[in-house]
Amino acid sequence: MGLLSEGSPLSWEETKKWANHVKTNGIEQFINLYKRLKDRQGDSLKWGDEVEYLIVKFDHENKRATVSLRANEMLPILREPENQDPASAKSLWRPEYGAYMVEGTPGCPYGALPVHLNIVEANMKLRRKEAQMLLPPNEMVLSVANFPRLGCPGFTFPEYNPDTSEKGVSMSRFFPDEAIFPGHPRFATLTRNIRSRRGSKIDIQIPVFVDKNTPRPFVEAGVPEQKEDMIYLDAMGFGMGCCCLQVTFQASSIAEALKLYDNLTPLCPIMLALTAATPFYRGYISDVDCRWNIIAASVDCRRPEERSVIRKSRYDSVDTYLSEENSEYNDIPLIYEEPHYQSLITEGGIDKSLAKHIAHLFIRDPVSLFSEKINQDNKKDSDHFENIQSTNWQTMRFKPPPPESSIGWRVEFRPCEVQLTDFENAAVVCFVVLLTRVVLTYNLHFMIPISKVDENMKNAQKRNAIATEKFWFRNDLQNKTASYSLMTVNEIINGKEGFPGLITLIQNYLNSMDVDADTQCTLQQYLCLISRRAKGDVMTAAKWMREFVTSHPKYSQDSVITEEINYDLLQRIATLSENHSSTLLGNIDPNRSKTQDNVPEILTR
Ligand code: ADP
Ligand code: MG
Ligand code: MG
Repeated sequence: MGLLSEGSPLSWEETKKWANHVKTNGIEQFINLYKRLKDRQGDSLKWGDEVEYLIVKFDHENKRATVSLRANEMLPILREPENQDPASAKSLWRPEYGAYMVEGTPGCPYGALPVHLNIVEANMKLRRKEAQMLLPPNEMVLSVANFPRLGCPGFTFPEYNPDTSEKGVSMSRFFPDEAIFPGHPRFATLTRNIRSRRGSKIDIQIPVFVDKNTPRPFVEAGVPEQKEDMIYLDAMGFGMGCCCLQVTFQASSIAEALKLYDNLTPLCPIMLALTAATPFYRGYISDVDCRWNIIAASVDCRRPEERSVIRKSRYDSVDTYLSEENSEYNDIPLIYEEPHYQSLITEGGIDKSLAKHIAHLFIRDPVSLFSEKINQDNKKDSDHFENIQSTNWQTMRFKPPPPESSIGWRVEFRPCEVQLTDFENAAVVCFVVLLTRVVLTYNLHFMIPISKVDENMKNAQKRNAIATEKFWFRNDLQNKTASYSLMTVNEIINGKEGFPGLITLIQNYLNSMDVDADTQCTLQQYLCLISRRAKGDVMTAAKWMREFVTSHPKYSQDSVITEEINYDLLQRIATLSENHSSTLLGNIDPNRSKTQDNVPEILTR
């Protein structure tokens, strides 16, 4: 979830006093690192994925499934290989917000060779196995983007009651503080400080999916905060406790990083719709398919009077393109503090668009500060910069090189929901990696006005958006001045008259490359999945889960996911990797790639 600083966390009352200090010094740190590193050139393409998992416990006798609060005891064991020899670890493990979550990444980033695309899935399988090995027989790591009954009574193991008193961290009616990862103070501190800064509890209202027997209006007894026909959630955990899939790329230079950032920005809503996997919240079927707005609301630290001035939560889609040449598409007015912007321009010599982006990030106060980190050497350190940067959770992240490291300028692609199987996660990751290659090789332009990207983000989250919504997209990706129009995801991915579609561009790129037969075979399966999903021939996880629940014999058409339905759904998901579901995955050739199960030692890293 971002930077993990060590030390003693400060309360909001204390942090508040240091807010200007952190911001002023953070800006100075960015200026220094920019000056030091702006001319850095020639870094090679490197990239890597991040997959987040839930730990689920099954009670077969009572047909119940709960989240298992076991991450803190698993992580030290999972991290042993890394601690012993970071260079040879095959996977890296990190804590995430939930005490029932873990995040796994490959041991080291992948490189530019096509064959690296052929080892992603094997490494994902390996990670799943590493985590699974630490669990008792009735528990499983699952890459489910949200636990369907998160926040229902008794949803954790061990079971805890929420604490709504002032002593509580979340003060939630539903989400006990014990479900927040306890092994690092960052998570509880952020929760408490965001709530304190906001001045009230988190307030998330999601439209319920109205079925035949759903009571109208849909009102929950004893929950006065709930708005009619809404599912009410009241804690950071309901958003940050969801699992996502991210990809980070190292660019050869800062200019290439800006270019990738800008071109990937309009793809965020498209990839969100394509990976939609979160239709259920707190035991109810909702009318949305994606987690995005729920997380945005779950960390919304704005005070009531700020909400009309600052348009978005600190978790949301990006507000601006970064490259000067794309500034014509920046049609959302950005707010920032003028002195920050002026310093970036005059002291840093930073271009206007990038300076505005950084200054815009710095409208947010620090919400997690450690006493040991207050005084820093701005020439060397970048913790104050990272403090604000890493608590702006946007669809894209522009990552400068860390101090004193060999890492170059990077860009992180953050919108995707985690998929149920390794096959799908690998397909999504490889698809995005190939898109970056296509953008750079053919010098494509995906930019549309940023306000249109926002509009697409809204529509991408709607129920079954992939089939029913249209998205603003460029008619011609090669022509710099091309116009844009509304297209379906299918048209964007598979093309239409006069527009080739992203798959065709990728196929052309692959044809021009020297790709070994085995990798080619794997990639064709991935592209086939993406293509068929865009067409509607195979389902998104969101649709597949909806169909599972609504056709369950015990479902009463009342929008409720009972303990038993939840159990059956998660059991079905648990067996998915062995028995592929063709509605979800299409017809995968089980022998599609020999390397997938028998990867040479060096390539599993
Ligand atoms: P985050 O700040 O998002 O938590 P992580 O440190 O967890 O980022 O890394 C995200 C991904 O970046 C991982 O998959 C990792 O393999 C990859 N990665 C690490 N170093 C590089 C690099 N130099 N270039 C590109 N990707 C990298
Ligand atoms: Mg990470
Ligand atoms: Mg990340």
